Amino acid sequence: MTTPLTPPRLRNDCFAMPQGVEWVPVDKALALLRARLHAVTGTEALSVAHAHGRVLAAPAVARRSNPPRPNSAVDGYGFAHAATGDGVQRLPLLPGRAAAGQPFEGAVPPGAALRILTGAILPQGVDTVVLEEDCATDGQIVAFDGPVKRAINTRQAGEDVTEGAPILPAGRVLTPADLALLSAVGLGHVQAHRRLRVAVLSTGDELLADPAGQAAPHQIFDANRPMLLALLAGWGFDAVDLGHAPDDADQIAARLDQGAQSADAVLTSGGASAGDEDHVSRLLRARGTLSSWRIAVKPGRPLALALWGGVPVFGLPGNPVAALVCALVFARPALSLLSGAGWSEPQGFVVPAAFSKRKKAGRREYLRARLTDSGQAEVFASEGSGRISGLSWASGLVELPDAACTIAPGDLVRYLPYASFGVRSGG
Ligand code: AMP
Ligand code: MG
Repeated sequence: MTTPLTPPRLRNDCFAMPQGVEWVPVDKALALLRARLHAVTGTEALSVAHAHGRVLAAPAVARRSNPPRPNSAVDGYGFAHAATGDGVQRLPLLPGRAAAGQPFEGAVPPGAALRILTGAILPQGVDTVVLEEDCATDGQIVAFDGPVKRAINTRQAGEDVTEGAPILPAGRVLTPADLALLSAVGLGHVQAHRRLRVAVLSTGDELLADPAGQAAPHQIFDANRPMLLALLAGWGFDAVDLGHAPDDADQIAARLDQGAQSADAVLTSGGASAGDEDHVSRLLRARGTLSSWRIAVKPGRPLALALWGGVPVFGLPGNPVAALVCALVFARPALSLLSGAGWSEPQGFVVPAAFSKRKKAGRREYLRARLTDSGQAEVFASEGSGRISGLSWASGLVELPDAACTIAPGDLVRYLPYASFGVRSGG
């Protein structure tokens, strides 16, 4: 067992923007986040049974080869290849058999054969197996056509993984297949990062936290919090619900304190711009270490980044569309880094557009999109950033470059499925 490591704290100025920067291009914002954040979670030993979705803290090294010993890949008859040749081969059968988990203890002399089943260790003297379907036998003799290839239908020791080989790197987020691999090479425990804890706070006087409540005309239901909590859980983090705070500095501060005590990072939504009612950014500026990043992105733009009690706060915009896009594009890779899993980039696919669009230079743009049956990207009819139905309709985003562009149907565009942000799409 290794002692749990306490990672260094984030630097106070980790979100500082260089002087004079007005609009930060998306790539520059991402590069800054990537350069300044690092893993903040300690590590613990974990049984493989509990390791799904967890982040490896140290490279996994095979304790045993897979397969550990040469064995048969089929049900058939095993023998020494050197004693066989061309034409019909007739070999006397030894009594007994070799099966998976039931090794044949004796040796098979040259010129003899033994019944052998899939997964059985090759007995001494056997290097080749002929498939049962290719043989005739009366129980005394087995007959098949030669020549057969040496070592056919066998698996060599270590042909999959050799003992001592590194199989998975630190930072790997363990998949179901990884659990199979770890188990196969005798690793019942791994050293993993503690799960990242991320708290979520909604802000706004207009919000009604209870989705079953009676809303007054000036009130709206809180849509961002359930979305963000679900995103975090889907990314394998522990999501902490900080509820909702009205636009009041002291109440927001109290929730942020709670977040800083119970989590490794906080996501807020709403109040992140620089207006009169933007209480989150005002508070973070007054009592935290705010940097307002004016990111050249649509939807989105202002992203308030700050440390509060040493914990990073990502102040997302209140508009649900902008909140989701900013969470996927900026918060996800940053949280991934904090979690020990390293930076993450969504895998994009270049597909023909099923839409027309003209955009000006200056801002990268993300459109709610999904693929048609013929594999073209169609986009949601309205671009309004309060249109939550479009978020739900979409199964991904089309990313348009920072530069000006004109898209006509059939032109190639970059499609980023929700799945490539680690998010389930409705199907
Ligand atoms: P803000 O960023 O606070 O200026 O909010 C921008 C828009 O998003 C306003 O129309 C808010 O009412 C709306 N909004 C803010 N937070 C939420 C939320 N949690 N759920 C739904 N809409 C919200
Ligand atoms: Mg607001």
